[in-house]
Amino acid sequence: MALIVQKYGGTSVGTVERIKAVAERVSAAHKNNQVVVVVSAMGKTTDGLVNLAQEITSNPSRREMDMLLSTGEQVSIALLSMALQELGQAAISLTGAQVGIVTEAAHSRARILQIKTDRIERHLERGEVVVVAGFQGITSLADLEITTLGRGGSDTSAVALAAALGASCCEIYTDVPGILTTDPRKVADAQLMTDITSDEMLELASLGAKVLHPRAVEIARNYGVPLVVRSSWSDAPGTRVNSPLPQPRSLVGLEITRAVDRVEFDQNPGKVALLSVPDRPGIAARLFGEIARQNVDVDLIIQSIHEGNSNDIAFTVFKGVLHQAEAIVREIAPELRSHPAQAEVIVAKGIVKVAIAGAGMIGRPGIAAKMFATLAAAGVNIEMISTSEVKVSCVVDEAECDRALAALCEAFAIDTYPVQGAISAQDTSILPPVRGVALDENQARLAMRHVPDLPGMSARIFSVLAGENISVDMIIQSQRCRIINDLPTRDIAFTVAQADAEAARAVLVKLAATINCGEVLVDQEIAKVSIVGAGMVGQPGVAAKFFAALAQEQINIQMITTSEIKISCVVSKTEGVKALQAVHQAFDLGVAIK
Ligand code: ADP
Ligand code: ASP
Ligand code: MG
Repeated sequence: MALIVQKYGGTSVGTVERIKAVAERVSAAHKNNQVVVVVSAMGKTTDGLVNLAQEITSNPSRREMDMLLSTGEQVSIALLSMALQELGQAAISLTGAQVGIVTEAAHSRARILQIKTDRIERHLERGEVVVVAGFQGITSLADLEITTLGRGGSDTSAVALAAALGASCCEIYTDVPGILTTDPRKVADAQLMTDITSDEMLELASLGAKVLHPRAVEIARNYGVPLVVRSSWSDAPGTRVNSPLPQPRSLVGLEITRAVDRVEFDQNPGKVALLSVPDRPGIAARLFGEIARQNVDVDLIIQSIHEGNSNDIAFTVFKGVLHQAEAIVREIAPELRSHPAQAEVIVAKGIVKVAIAGAGMIGRPGIAAKMFATLAAAGVNIEMISTSEVKVSCVVDEAECDRALAALCEAFAIDTYPVQGAISAQDTSILPPVRGVALDENQARLAMRHVPDLPGMSARIFSVLAGENISVDMIIQSQRCRIINDLPTRDIAFTVAQADAEAARAVLVKLAATINCGEVLVDQEIAKVSIVGAGMVGQPGVAAKFFAALAQEQINIQMITTSEIKISCVVSKTEGVKALQAVHQAFDLGVAIK
């Protein structure tokens, strides 16, 4: 008999009627399987509890918040168990503490360290359905402090249980038919996917597709848990999330796995930067449209925050086409210049991309900071940074490549030789260039002006943020160099969760005073629109199509970053949904998938 884990989200257990319907489903599944069920709190219960706390204090203690929020799930496990028993199905509800879901002591954002399986197994052997409270754990079997995993954490509980129990499948039941090309609440013709790779889902989840929590995808990927997202209201098969065959890993330290699995490098890129182009819609579309028309394949693209009313755009290309890319940029530069006197095309040869990669770095801001600090200590200056959930890449001078790689391998205890261009080596041509698009309206943009252009500056900035446990995305250094007090300086911009923006600003203002930087800017009125697809590697024209779709709607692009399998643009918050819809349509994602 197979063992399956099923998870039902808040809407799926939102009323007593729905809880009864879930009980029917669970007991039907129990005919052929052993079943562990993980449930969320009913409907919007958790939001309601947060509001209650806010009525008392704007700054509640994290411990008391965990005590409060964990009650929501306790209600639903008890009711579901009763509903199962009412159907004649033996069942027992267990809290995180009763199971022995042991977590770190970090209240409100605890990671799972280990799950004791003996009690669950005992109940399963007796033919009972075990109903477990999602989202919660305890610090240790000795002090039994209640912790929560962070909002949306029941997905994580479910997949972690499936990994610990060696379940044959983890099924996430929710209020949509599965994973769609985008959020159906924002784009009416979003289409259901039959399957998606865990790499793609990790990106989509962390870029705003709330249907699965990124930590749940990470665990599924690390332990090779077969994962399915399905509707609570139908028997349709939903969407499979496919993971590569995992390396054997210990179940101890479940979510605290090794952060970095590999060090990679890519010797190919040359860089072209176009400085001082006007800050208005259509510029990136024009530039990359021409590059795509000539079939030149670009790798990383960045556009930093505007300075005055102009922007800098830089990109790297694969070997052999640097001359062609340069010629294109030089040819169209005069047409794009905002101030002909200042405009400049910069070409750099002899650069390499060095990267650290691993699913364990998700939500651990200290890892990127450690990479920057390691490069700084080795005296390596970083020219460009590109981040994704599972990889941080830095473009550095070729002469410094070996030193950079050796330092990274040592810092992250990697004893295998760095691999060259891991993703570009795979055959991704059979995959669609864009699998899904996502909108994140909960981000804020921060920028530090005039940061001295010396090794170690990014390390200082991102270590300070990591110290506050603030995760950072879309890190971009401006290409333009300004001389301030005889020192070359650059701007560094990045995005953080809105909830972290104020804390980030406060620590950066303090830091700015000690390292002689300019002002720290915060913009809360932004939205991040992203496209994700493993098939975009080696396919010219994907970025151009994205930018053209925004240009057609007269939407200005404020920042651009890319990783191998995603491209993200920051736009103004008021234009976020319009941008999402335009991009979804541009890639024909609203057409039924065969
Ligand atoms: P649950 O309570 O079941 O955990 P969530 O509200 O956390 O449900 O996640 C499901 C919601 O995710 C959907 O109702 C949908 O609005 C949203 N969503 C965002 N992006 C996507 C996507 N790409 N595919 C499916 N749903 C998405
Ligand atoms: N109830 C928790 C929340 O609303 C956990 C979850 O639903 O996944 O965030
Ligand atoms: Mg959820």
